[in-house]
Amino acid sequence: MSTAPKIGIVSLGCPKALVDSERILTALRAEGYALSNTYEGADVVLVNTCGFLDSAREESFDAIGEALSKNGKVIVTGCLGKEEGLLRQKFPDVLSITGPQQYESVVEAVHKALPPKHDPYLDLVPPEGIRLTPRHYAYLKISEGCNNRCSFCIIPSMRGDLVSRKIGELMREAEKLASAGVKELLVISQDTSAYGLDLKYAEDTWRDKTWRTKFIDVAKALSTLGIWVRLHYVYPYPHVDEVLEVMSHEGVLPYLDIPFQHASPKVLKAMRRPAHQAKTLERIQAWRKAQPDLVIRSTFIAGFPGETEEDFQFLLDWLEEAQLDRVGCFAYEAVTGAVANELPGAVPEKVKQERRGRFMETQQKISRARLKRFKGRTLDILIDKIEDGVAVGRSYADAPEIDGLVYVSGAAAKVGDKIKAKITRSDEYDLFGECVA
Ligand code: SF4
Repeated sequence: MSTAPKIGIVSLGCPKALVDSERILTALRAEGYALSNTYEGADVVLVNTCGFLDSAREESFDAIGEALSKNGKVIVTGCLGKEEGLLRQKFPDVLSITGPQQYESVVEAVHKALPPKHDPYLDLVPPEGIRLTPRHYAYLKISEGCNNRCSFCIIPSMRGDLVSRKIGELMREAEKLASAGVKELLVISQDTSAYGLDLKYAEDTWRDKTWRTKFIDVAKALSTLGIWVRLHYVYPYPHVDEVLEVMSHEGVLPYLDIPFQHASPKVLKAMRRPAHQAKTLERIQAWRKAQPDLVIRSTFIAGFPGETEEDFQFLLDWLEEAQLDRVGCFAYEAVTGAVANELPGAVPEKVKQERRGRFMETQQKISRARLKRFKGRTLDILIDKIEDGVAVGRSYADAPEIDGLVYVSGAAAKVGDKIKAKITRSDEYDLFGECVA
């Protein structure tokens, strides 16, 4: 006899609501939940409501009342979920209320009311989900969409405004990944420092503690997992300072990926970049003072419409002063639908490429000089591959795919091991060392 937790569902409303119900059930089935056709046979009942017409509202109220009296454990979702106050007043005993399209919140409410039972022989999906990255690192997406309107970008028009995941749900996913053997989490989004703004930093629980859905709280919570955490797509807002204090070599790494894109105030304004008025050079200096080990990676665009030789020289001077560790640079390319396409002062292709080349040349010298500071130091290296007997991995200073590598000789290591290496030399991208433990 199956011991799988059982879900009952009452689906009301239009075809869109029906599709939502199907999506919810598909996710729950993949996690090992079974379905029940009766109230009595279900461990929890989902009511997907409709609130379009008065008659539909009445029907939804009746369905909730019936599910409560016949089963007792009821989760309400769908269009009527928008009227949470009214529903709470009418049905104080419902376990959770979520609105339409809040598909992940419904699944999360089910997890809370009725935790999934993972059966390794039957489940199609492992508890940590299906991942396309190697076993030892994983991406953790903390939000979708973006509230900024950078003129070269069409992401907000494609994916909409910022929608953050609540911190409790996010941390449970991070925890599952850590227990599945992941040793490094790469935190991603379109604007990591804006995390939780859309939810007004709503409070949520994880490990019996209250946390705010906020950048600093997620950094603190992730730092308790005992694995590496790397922060990507952070903007240089003042509140990033707090996160610097949480950084360590065992948790949230002293590493920030900040897509600066340019330095000239005029170009940044035309790009409509967030935090473009911030005094970034001063901020970088203050961060380095607080966290001398801090590594900063960034990306830039050369040849943005209206960029003059003077603006570009400003960028190169800024780069010399900022002394960033890792940098990528792209020649500006028009994206269909982007506002920047209408801007005057298009830069000829040849000039864009030439500026990109000069930029990379300047940065190569900086990177080469910066990497020298690791010589003689012993670093933890997470091994990504073994090549001709040499263990190849990354230190806290290198994100997978985009940064450099560390080549470690004398190591009897496997992929996914974390070893210690003494650095003996460096070039403009990579480090070389010997295994010491
Ligand atoms: S480039 Fe700008 S608008 Fe586009 S996703 Fe990033 S921050 Fe948002």
